[in-house]
Formats: sequence, structure tokens, C-alpha cells
Amino acid sequence: MSGIRPTGYLHLGNYFGAVRNYVRMQDEFECYFMVADLHSLTTHPDTKELKLNVHRVLSENIACGLDPDKVALYCQSHIYETAELYLYLNMLAYKGELEKTVTFKDKARQHPDNINAGLLTYPVLQAADIILHRAKYVPVGKDQEQHLEMARNFVNRFNHRYGDVFPEPIAFNFGDDLVKVPSLDGAGKMSKSENQYATLYLSDDDELIRKKVMKAKTDSGPTEPNTPMPDYIENIFLLMKLVSAEDVVAKYQGDYNNCIIRYGDMKKQLAEDMVKFITPIREQADSIRNDEKYLKEIMEKGAAKARKSAKATIELVRDAMGLNYY
Ligand code: ADP
Repeated sequence: MSGIRPTGYLHLGNYFGAVRNYVRMQDEFECYFMVADLHSLTTHPDTKELKLNVHRVLSENIACGLDPDKVALYCQSHIYETAELYLYLNMLAYKGELEKTVTFKDKARQHPDNINAGLLTYPVLQAADIILHRAKYVPVGKDQEQHLEMARNFVNRFNHRYGDVFPEPIAFNFGDDLVKVPSLDGAGKMSKSENQYATLYLSDDDELIRKKVMKAKTDSGPTEPNTPMPDYIENIFLLMKLVSAEDVVAKYQGDYNNCIIRYGDMKKQLAEDMVKFITPIREQADSIRNDEKYLKEIMEKGAAKARKSAKATIELVRDAMGLNYY
């Protein structure tokens, strides 16, 4: 089970941190993937734009290879049971631990005029999303590690108090380590909401991709063989490892170690490989997004699958809590 907020176009971080794993999981597991529209409400978006943004995320997920016939691909707000489970879990979540969450502290710093209770309890809603399907594996990027740890705490408290209902959810990645795709300016991770120019979106056109990659921070190169790489150079190598062939990466790695690296050439190569990677996804997402009828059908089908699983879990929860007394 996993989700992505409809807060803008998907970027390379979303792809390598999350969607790539969704696509690989769909053949092996029973999967639930949602567009997390309720989560996006914490930052008070213009809700008139939500529909378009939800369609965008759905289209991009499908363009990346997610098959709505294999998984439940749905919209969070269509599953009302989420709100009920969120309420129960809120009774087991403590103010102190919620206030310590890194994402809460960041958001509170960025928007001091909008520190609402939804923002504070964001990890509780996220835990409800996951355990609503009694999910075990949660494909997410590295930035979500702390939230997953909190979800496990809530689950353990629930199980301890009311009996074993939920498995402990764990962050999952086929490549073992969780992924963090760095932003092109070397400052933090690529993100939908920050550093637009340092983030590569799956919707960027070829020229924009080239421009962004060429602007990535470099320097005049190492002067001593085998010098440790500065962060921003390591980031460029990391991006290259994601989209370029192994021998290409090895060549530039060798050039770096021998102090003959030409960053201009490296970035040109990276830009072309990035264009090759992003273009087919962008083109397919564009054509899916224009088919509203298809997207509506997908959402209905996904919600039906998710609702079935959610209702079964809620029955177990009410039984365990002793609430089924009518
Ligand atoms: P964003 O942070 O861009 O708004 P979301 O919060 O909607 O994205 O996250 C959706 C998924 O994408 C999550 O699983 C998250 O861990 C992953 N993700 C987001 N940014 C990155 C990144 N730069 N590197 C790796 N994974 C990422």
C-alpha cells in the first residue's frame, strides 16, 4: 500500500522512490495505491484544482507502468472508512510524539500561519491509510522512514490494547536501501513543492530537461586522484546511475578518479539519457489525461476494490474494540 499527494506533477524522486516499486510489486503482491487527496488538504490548496491534479497523478502512474487491472488504484477521499480508522488511531497518538515529527516541524516553520490539527496528525492519517488494508509492505522513499516507524508504534499500541488485528507495516524497496533522489542544486531532495528548477518532472519537455541538467551545480573538477566527491557531484553521479547505462557511469567515474572529468560533457550525456527516460512517460501521461471517461472508470473500479478491503478491516476493528454492540 502506498500513496502520492496530488500536489503537482510527479518528479524523478517520486518515480525512483515510489512508483518504480509499485510497478514491480503489482505482479507479486495484492496492491493498493492511492492518490492522497485528503493529505493535500492540510496545506489548503484551491480545491477547484484538485480534480485536474488527481487526474494528473493517476495518468502519470499509469504511464509509468501501473496496471489498474492488477492493482487497486483509487482516490483516498472515496474510501470513507479511512476517516473512521483515523479517528480511532488518533486516540492512540500522543501530542508529544506528533510534535516531534520532522515533516511537521518543517511545515510548521514554512507556514507558521497554518499549523492546523490535520498537519499535526498527518502521520496518523497515513497510518490509517496503510492499515486499512492491513498492509505489510509500503513502497516509499527515504523521507518517509520516520512516518512508517510511527505507523508501527500506532499498530503496536492498537494490537496491545484491543488484540492482534494489524501486521506491522514496513517501508519497502526492491533495491534494499530506501531511495532519496537529490535535487539538482544539491540542497535536499527533489520535491513537488520546493525548488521547481532543481526538480526534474516527468512532465518536463526535452528542452527544459536539458536546461535544468546543464544548470546543475559543478566545479572545476578534482586535482588529486581519487578525491572524495563533494555532495553536489555525488548527486550528479547518483542521477546518472538512475538513467544511464553502466558503462557510461563507469567512464565518468574513471575520469573523475583520474582528474580528467569534463562536467559539461557529463551533464550533456546525463541530459540526453534523462530525455530518453522521461519523454515516453510524458507523452503517454498526456494522452491518458485527456481521456476523462477512462480515468473515471479507473477510479470507480479502484474504489470498489479498496472499499471491499476497507470494510472487512473496519469490521475486525469494531469487533476488536468491542464496538459491535447493537
Ligand atoms: P513530494 O514530497 O514530492 O510532495 P509526496 O509527499 O507525495 O511527494 O511523496 C510521494 C512518494 O514519493 C513518497 O513515497 C515519497 O517517499 C517519494 N518521494 C518524494 N520525493 C522523493 C525523493 N526526492 N527521492 C525519493 N523518493 C521521494
